[in-house]
Amino acid sequence: MRSYQARWVVPMDRPPLPGGVVAVAGDTIVSVTPAGETPADVDLGDVILLPGLINVHTHLDLSEAAACRPASASAAVPLPDWLEQVVAIRRHQTFAQRQEAMQAGLLACWQAGVTTVGDIVTDPQLWPMLTRSPLRGVAFLEVLGLTLPRAEAARRAAEAWLTPALSGASSLAGTSPLAGFPVSAAAPSSESAEPAPCRWRRGVSPHAPYSVRRELFAAALDLAAQGQCPVAIHLAESQEEAELLHTRRGAFRDLLQRLGVWDPAGLIPSWEALLAWASSHRGPVLWIHANYLAPRSLPAHHTVVYCPRTHAAFGHSPYPLPGWRHAGVRLCLATDSLASNPDLNLLAEARFVHQRYPDLPAEEVLGMITREAAAALGSEAQLGTLTPGKAADLIVLPWPPGIPTHTDPCRAILESAVPVAGVMIAGRWLSVPNNRRQSPSLPENDGEQRPAPPENGEQ
Ligand SMILES: [Zn+2]
Repeated sequence: MRSYQARWVVPMDRPPLPGGVVAVAGDTIVSVTPAGETPADVDLGDVILLPGLINVHTHLDLSEAAACRPASASAAVPLPDWLEQVVAIRRHQTFAQRQEAMQAGLLACWQAGVTTVGDIVTDPQLWPMLTRSPLRGVAFLEVLGLTLPRAEAARRAAEAWLTPALSGASSLAGTSPLAGFPVSAAAPSSESAEPAPCRWRRGVSPHAPYSVRRELFAAALDLAAQGQCPVAIHLAESQEEAELLHTRRGAFRDLLQRLGVWDPAGLIPSWEALLAWASSHRGPVLWIHANYLAPRSLPAHHTVVYCPRTHAAFGHSPYPLPGWRHAGVRLCLATDSLASNPDLNLLAEARFVHQRYPDLPAEEVLGMITREAAAALGSEAQLGTLTPGKAADLIVLPWPPGIPTHTDPCRAILESAVPVAGVMIAGRWLSVPNNRRQSPSLPENDGEQRPAPPENGEQ
């Protein structure tokens, strides 16, 4: 066991603890105590400890598609035009390029303090790369198909993807979560050779109302229900999507015709119909964007995912965040992909929201990338807060220079730009070499590969 003290511990399941101590044994948090109750093995100094961040919506295999990103809201293209660019990239992307993009995305997540990812996967063969990374996550297989043949092929792909989850064998035997990751992030070789439990689960993502046949939505929801797997659906992202569903015309119809995949008989009748179908799904459902959906109450296991800087980049109407809060719906923040967002820095999304909505409690905003995000993925029993019994996933932030030390640490995080200085996943420190100078009191490396407690010990 090893215990860490910090100027502030922000557990997210209770108020912040000045001088709090977090004790970790193996891969689990064993205690979180106020100053003075538990002796600390390591004093981390002038830093804040926060649960590992959870980015519930990314497309990591688009991490090298920055050419599609709108330069500014005023220069933004309509969503169908942007999608056409993304489709062109996807069609020319080799498997090796997808792997490179995903590797870059995983690294960017980790450097931003993201310990769990909800990633949309377009190629099932990328699964081993995810499971070998040090991160946790849910891999949502993207299924598309508006025409009957494409929808049927996608249904079969979803069935094959979810079969291990349906049979209860969601782990790949012998997978080591650390093998294959860049050496700077990997555990010592003696540990990386050991088989370890898989930290990834399977989900499914019927892409969006303009790209998924109604029968495919039903089939995907049915398959996910059998394994209680999470489902992610892009919904109500643009006015063009509303126009398509209301009139069967507009820019989306033109795009789908150009791509040779138009079939009006496959379209769902309305957003409301899809919401109703999904309401009986007993696993987690994530509604991605919902930019133009009128806020309403949703089942407790449903979440609306707001991607703040992606939303801003497209120049959409103001986000209905106050309405979703008023409706009592769980809201999370996510980055979406680098095809629409400048980076995968989840804290930057929270800081952006804090600037736009200064009246929102800072703790609530941080909850959208920790506690609520864990619940969105159905992982609230294991992740999202610094709570005894949960996984030892935490991040270290230096106390922001120039901010008085009595400031609420949640506000201090959001009102500064301090980068993440340390990341622990499952009780192991991962090194973040770029930030070491800003966190001189962090434990020193015990080698080239990871920070470790000063006394080289059991972890
Ligand atoms: Zn997306």
